[in-house]
Amino acid sequence: MLVFILNAGTSSLKYQLINAKTSELKASGLVERIGIDGILKHEVGENKKLTFELPIPTHKEAIELVLRILTNDETKVINSIKEIQAIGHRIVHGGEFFKESTIVTPDVIDKIEQLIPLAPLHNPANIMGIKICQELMPKVPNVAVFDTAFHQTMTKENFLYAVPYADYTEHHLRKYGFHGTSHYYVSNETVKILNKKDSKIIVCHLGNGSSVCAVRDGKSISTSMGLTPLEGLIMGTRAGDIDAGVIPYLMEKKNLSSNQILDYLNKKSGILGISGISSDLREVIKASKDGDLRSKITIEMLCNRIKKYLCSYAGLMGGVDAICFTAGIGENSDLIREKVCNGLEFMGIELDNDKNSIREKGNREISKKSSRTKIYVIPTNEELVIAKDTYNLTKSN
Ligand code: AMP
Repeated sequence: MLVFILNAGTSSLKYQLINAKTSELKASGLVERIGIDGILKHEVGENKKLTFELPIPTHKEAIELVLRILTNDETKVINSIKEIQAIGHRIVHGGEFFKESTIVTPDVIDKIEQLIPLAPLHNPANIMGIKICQELMPKVPNVAVFDTAFHQTMTKENFLYAVPYADYTEHHLRKYGFHGTSHYYVSNETVKILNKKDSKIIVCHLGNGSSVCAVRDGKSISTSMGLTPLEGLIMGTRAGDIDAGVIPYLMEKKNLSSNQILDYLNKKSGILGISGISSDLREVIKASKDGDLRSKITIEMLCNRIKKYLCSYAGLMGGVDAICFTAGIGENSDLIREKVCNGLEFMGIELDNDKNSIREKGNREISKKSSRTKIYVIPTNEELVIAKDTYNLTKSN
């Protein structure tokens, strides 16, 4: 069954065409700078890469272009878009409405719209993606897969903020958590490897956006992102945890509006803000090796924050069977993994430096044989989860 996966952002969209039954990736790509100029990077299978630079004024034209490329003589991987049997959409915020993936109905769209105040940038773009697909492929079912759904198993003591309770009941103020599809995929792979009924797993999703998740017996019990994806770890351009008092202080000192302070904390902070070099950790690691002091501090701060979450989640669960690293930094940076694990031997966390430095594809263990807590690198695959959920919800249609 061929499933088209769509992740529509404000000026970009990511897509994949997957055979959900066999997990075969037929094609994937990224359209960027929609409405500005337009660039489409398309990959067929794992090797053939094509780049198209052409004006792409709207998301609708972007999706039409992708569908043409999938079916066009020279670039085709399918003969007709009629071969697409279902469409899976990545939706950022499902609030408390959605505890799992769901077939898109008018009521589902209405609920995603109601959640726009909680995800003002993402949910409108996600809805636009759904509506365009409904227009271009009216007979094909759409499925919504939510970034927040996996964390809906968190209980009040872990998702409430310590502010007046009425703001939870009246204004939905609480921790929701994000990267749920990734945390689900990685923890589920780990459960399979551990082959253990009761498991305590901590997933470190470390990419441009980063979050940690405590997963007990397959369920998220706490995670570092909050009401929005700004809370928690130090990220590419996001500050993560910060004293809320910083906000009025800076607004007054620098005469900033609420949008400007949000921009400051979301886009100018984190790795970019501290290092002053880049939001791309590779560049900061390079600068640090060349002796740049602020880059060194950035890396130490980043790893200390991850360590703080690891220890607090191990405490929350009363131990930890496995720690997993995933996403761009987690999968590729042996340095960050080493710095995070270093010093945690007292908790039974022993990294094998040789295994850690080997670059290999696929799931792999990087802990010492004697390590009580296993350490794994598990490449994430959110699209596969979306494809499988879409397949399972639509196969009887
Ligand atoms: P993602 O958002 O998952 O694509 O991850 C992007 C982040 O991964 C960027 O900060 C990259 O600098 C980082 N990254 C990718 N490869 C490496 C690497 N070999 N070492 C350190 N960071 C890396």
